[in-house]
Amino acid sequence: MKTIYTHGDARCPKCKVKLTAASDPAGGGTPSAGDVSLCVYCAAILVFNPELTMRLMSPEEINGLEPVVADKLALYAGMVLLRLQREQDGKH
Ligand SMILES: [Zn+2]
Repeated sequence: MKTIYTHGDARCPKCKVKLTAASDPAGGGTPSAGDVSLCVYCAAILVFNPELTMRLMSPEEINGLEPVVADKLALYAGMVLLRLQREQDGKH
């Protein structure tokens, strides 16, 4: 199973936020090419390039994820979107 990184030491290609390193508690270690990441600021689903920059994951790639990985991503993305929604509503 691929490790999910909720942050990576790179910049989100979608919202351009600099992401600081932190990884899935179940994973650990350093990210490698093909590892899945999620931007905690805009909920973009990202994938690591060989040089450890990140790019947006294509819909085809998302569809091809293992169910357990897809479920975790959905959970993390849901939390991010909930936070964004609350911030937009002015409730912090
Ligand atoms: Zn982002």
